Amino acid sequence: MKIGILALQGAVREHRRTLQHLGVTTVDVLYPADLQGIDGLVIPGGESTTMGKLLVRYNLLKPIAELGRKGLPIFGTCTGLILLSKHINGSEQYRLDLMDTFVERNAFGRQLASFEADMEIPALADIGDNAGNNTPFHTIFIRAPYIEKVDDKAEPKVIPLLTDNGKILFAEQGNLLAAAFHPELTDDTRVHAYFLKKVRTLKP
Ligand code: GLN
Repeated sequence: MKIGILALQGAVREHRRTLQHLGVTTVDVLYPADLQGIDGLVIPGGESTTMGKLLVRYNLLKPIAELGRKGLPIFGTCTGLILLSKHINGSEQYRLDLMDTFVERNAFGRQLASFEADMEIPALADIGDNAGNNTPFHTIFIRAPYIEKVDDKAEPKVIPLLTDNGKILFAEQGNLLAAAFHPELTDDTRVHAYFLKKVRTLKP
């Protein structure tokens, strides 16, 4: 299995380390040719306006959006969650336009712009070492967005995997997975393992 990591900016190294720990081959994606032969793609955190502009400049926005529409599994963290979304509240910035979600950026206010919390994520119950013993996941939020709402009519459905006070922080829709937090900054590999399970399940 080969997983691409969009390497224009952000926590590329941390995603690479986590994926390699899980035994998969990774490739940094900087040019359209790097997308060839990948089974899944990770979009790291960073700054979504800048990353959107870089995606355009590196001729990656359209090819990645096209692959996503055709079913390539894509996992976005933080900025990745924003770029996957069809709707970004109050912003016309570039995006991949794939997930039927409405995203609020920098949504936790100045004081809480960055915080950490242990959260129960039921979807991780059967994942990895922790099978049958679903300990909370240590979530790290850095000027994080959240999903404010989803388009209920969308097909396939957007499934929230973690919600806190009405804010959706982790969700999936078919081949797409999006987290408002940064699992790559912890030693806990369960969220990445969840993505890899999706990649294996969807592989033709
Ligand atoms: N605030 C950033 C944005 O709007 C996201 C922050 C992150 O990826 N850690 O793109």
